[in-house]
Amino acid sequence: MLFVLGQWSFYGIFRCPYPVPFVDCQVCPVITCWGRITSLFWGLWLFVPLSVILFGRAFCGWLCPGGFVNQLIGKAAIFKLRTRNRFSKWAPLGLCLGLAVTLFLWLVLGNPRWIIPIRIGEFWPSIGLSFEHASTAWLIRTFTVLGLVAAGLVIANLWCRFVCPTGCLLEWFKRVAIFRVFKTDACNNCDACLKICEMGTRPDEVNCTNCGDCLKSCPENAIKIGRKRM
Ligand code: SF4
Ligand code: SF4
Ligand code: SF4
Repeated sequence: MLFVLGQWSFYGIFRCPYPVPFVDCQVCPVITCWGRITSLFWGLWLFVPLSVILFGRAFCGWLCPGGFVNQLIGKAAIFKLRTRNRFSKWAPLGLCLGLAVTLFLWLVLGNPRWIIPIRIGEFWPSIGLSFEHASTAWLIRTFTVLGLVAAGLVIANLWCRFVCPTGCLLEWFKRVAIFRVFKTDACNNCDACLKICEMGTRPDEVNCTNCGDCLKSCPENAIKIGRKRM
């Protein structure tokens, strides 16, 4: 699964001729792209919404290859931001901005095709050729995404915490999640869980992906997993 989704992400960044990948696959000229192939299986599209209803943002914590890469890069990051700070408060704003830019490119500009991907010869040289002949707009789009992912070397998980439009959508819909990692009333706000969280958050708060890493970190035994009584 991770391999398929990894190929999907790779094509989305390096091969997709549209600014917003995976939404125009049926008319895309890249016939062998994983996005195009997997989009034929509508069950896959049902899987992500279903996973949010059941397990909140668990897709981010368990399946997303983008999240996996971001976490790996984040291990070497200079600033982990695992304390309560003013940057954390910007997370929802950054995520909303990422989604707004994506929707603008897709729905307002009509997701214009900015390159004709070149598929002649070996895999890597053909990608090099695509870059060589790409429009300025596509290069800006691609280097912006790569730059923001690389910025994860400065601030851990920057893309996932502050930018990702998919993460923003999942963040909104996770409010209806049935099963989640959450804090009980025994929580005394010591922030021990926050200090071990790769997303720099606490259970059931903004950016919590239900990964469960913090389950054993609470000195008050206040972190539970399952259905939260409202
Ligand atoms: S925030 Fe985006 S890139 Fe990060 S794990 Fe979630 S969907 Fe993947
Ligand atoms: S470690 Fe436990 S008590 Fe401390 S903030 Fe997290 S949930 Fe609350
Ligand atoms: S708060 Fe806990 S469950 Fe949520 S993302 Fe952080 S470590 Fe994972």
